[in-house]
Amino acid sequence: MLLLLSIYLPAMANDASAPSKPIKQASSKDEASAATKEEPKSSSKESKYSKEGKAAEAARAKDALAADELAAKIAEKLAFIRKEKEDAGKYAPRAMIRSYAAPTRREVKPKVISDAHAAISSTAGVGAAAHGTAHWSYEGEGGPLMWGKLNPDYAKCDIGERQSPIDIRDGIRVDLDPLTFDYKPSRFSVIDNGHTIQVNLSAGNYINVSGRTYELVQFHFHKPSEERVNGKGFEMVAHMVHKDGDGKLAVVAVLIERGKAQALVQSVWNNLPLEKNQAVQALSTMDLSQILPTRRDYYTYMGSLTTPPCSEGVLWLVMKEAIEISPEQLAIFSRLYPMNARPIQKPSGRLIKESN
Ligand SMILES: [Zn+2]
Repeated sequence: MLLLLSIYLPAMANDASAPSKPIKQASSKDEASAATKEEPKSSSKESKYSKEGKAAEAARAKDALAADELAAKIAEKLAFIRKEKEDAGKYAPRAMIRSYAAPTRREVKPKVISDAHAAISSTAGVGAAAHGTAHWSYEGEGGPLMWGKLNPDYAKCDIGERQSPIDIRDGIRVDLDPLTFDYKPSRFSVIDNGHTIQVNLSAGNYINVSGRTYELVQFHFHKPSEERVNGKGFEMVAHMVHKDGDGKLAVVAVLIERGKAQALVQSVWNNLPLEKNQAVQALSTMDLSQILPTRRDYYTYMGSLTTPPCSEGVLWLVMKEAIEISPEQLAIFSRLYPMNARPIQKPSGRLIKESN
């Protein structure tokens, strides 16, 4: 299983169109082995040894089942990765995010997987964690307390010890390395991915912290703010997701309070898509430095993605000074996402540092 995956997965990482091949092969193989149950290719031989034939048939059926289970697991893994690109695409690398521009391509492939999976899970009993049922959300059956159970790949959401968001308190006050922003006017597109409003940016925006450079990939919003500071929540938060050359993530969180209107937020709202999962390319550009607070003091700690799969090893940089947006601008987001914040997670003895 792991070996097979290690063969399939690297191909997937490089080319989004690659996974459909192994899956189709796996599923057609399954169909072939299922067919042998009724019309064995070597039926003439088996009719001579009916008892042995039946035993062989049973063994073959068992093999077919095992193959089905294997195919199911592979399909599930691939489905998860694809789902991750679609749903949690906000944390995906730029190449994956660009795939939003090709919805038809993506719509076709998951169907192959879900069909394969549905067919297999009915016989093999695998499928409780099928990607088709793993629709995570912020309330009800797919709510945050269930995330870790929706899919084996979301396990970190349950068992992780470095999860986000947290209530930021008891930080160590030190002279933190300055957090520098190298943002410039950039082309952008806006997408409603079913969990938030996300803005994907063209290349060329960077932050630098502790000698590492991370490139901005996208930013998105939560309401209310996911993180708290000494127990205090905020109206909203913007998460600006950056990635370095090694694929490590650094998220800059800009807390948002009710106040004056904010021009950059308005330009995002102006480009809100009419349909979910269909990116709207804006005609204008945006300079993300407009959304940053004047003061560059920050809190920092190690955490995770705040959405499934809740992967850890994310460097969090939470700006101390909040920005303002107007009540009307808050109301617009609220109509789309009245509540899309993960609850506070255990600090588990994590070190929090903050600017003096
Ligand atoms: Zn976020």
